[in-house]
Amino acid sequence: MFHKASANPRKMSTSLPVLTAYEKAHLADRQPLPDRYVGLADQEMDRRIAAAKAALGRRAVILGHHYQRDEVIKFADHTGDSYKLAQQVSRHPDAEFIVFCGVHFMAESADVLSADHQQVILPDLAAGCSMSDMVAPDQLAMCWADLGQMGFANDASPVVPVTYINSAAAIKAFCGERGGVVCTSSNAKATLTWAWARGERVLFLPDQHLGRNAAYALGVPLDRMVVWDPDEVWGGLDPDRLARARIVLWKGHCSVHTRFSARQIESVRRQHPGVRVIVHPEVPWEVVQAADDAGSTEYIIRQVKNSAIGSVWAVGTEIHLVSRLANDVHPDRTVLSLDQFGCLCSTMFRVSPNHLLWVLEGLLEGAVHNRIAVPDEQKSWTRVALDRMLSIS
Ligand code: SF4
Repeated sequence: MFHKASANPRKMSTSLPVLTAYEKAHLADRQPLPDRYVGLADQEMDRRIAAAKAALGRRAVILGHHYQRDEVIKFADHTGDSYKLAQQVSRHPDAEFIVFCGVHFMAESADVLSADHQQVILPDLAAGCSMSDMVAPDQLAMCWADLGQMGFANDASPVVPVTYINSAAAIKAFCGERGGVVCTSSNAKATLTWAWARGERVLFLPDQHLGRNAAYALGVPLDRMVVWDPDEVWGGLDPDRLARARIVLWKGHCSVHTRFSARQIESVRRQHPGVRVIVHPEVPWEVVQAADDAGSTEYIIRQVKNSAIGSVWAVGTEIHLVSRLANDVHPDRTVLSLDQFGCLCSTMFRVSPNHLLWVLEGLLEGAVHNRIAVPDEQKSWTRVALDRMLSIS
């Protein structure tokens, strides 16, 4: 990834052509898909995946995120959002292998929550998350030090760090060690309530939109929220602005969900009078305001499936979830994508059926490809932050 050049010395440190933390840390270990797994016919791939899965039996559990493509998710033992899949890990103590069809940060969380005898596999290590890459450990350490210099993040004026589950284990560990927590889109509001019971201010990472939407839903006005820009001196803020803030939002976003707009909502309402619009809380604040409802992927699925027969929905989230939901509820209800071109998570898409077949057949041959192993020094504090997350519903 290449960053824009800048005269600001802090920007200079991240403005050179650099690999993201994710790329540096993991792509060097990436094992490429062997040639013999390229160009297989769909039927052969399906047959061999099913056979490998059956042969592995309870030795392997396959977890599939809702944004995963159909050809892969049909082999998942459990599907869900990040929160639901994290819960599944401890429910399969007899599985030696957890094959995580999602993105890197999800597999890391699974590794931290798994038992010592279990190994977590991400079929393609290139399945990262652009949002997760928007906060690097050194940027967070500098932010924390800056907050201290500005008179915050100390006993007199505590700041509770809250990181969205869409972040690297190193970020989760940082939060866990400083009394903070991990949240998901399902429990973001409950987590903020938990955090404000422990400190005057929250530092919310890395998705500014989820943080803003959740805080606003809890009654915090926009002028009590500030955005921390890691490329600016003191985050681009001054102590007076920080003193008024209840929440400091890290300047990060999801490249998929920020494609949705209030104009799309106006347009779909004109074309489909009576349509209900529901969006994921990673969309910008004005989109949530223009929609009828907002919530996690699990919430969206529940709302649509439990709606009245004949309902028409426009859904603002990743296209694979929207398409499957449309098929599931057809013909009783109609589901449209809020973005007429559909918003695809291209990194999730990197987990192909070819990769799934390769890792499953590898296990049968005694080879573990693309294992995710969080370093021991990060594991314990990450675990603390994730356990706090699982305790907040
Ligand atoms: S949808 Fe956005 S936040 Fe989710 S994995 Fe893809 S890039 Fe990351």
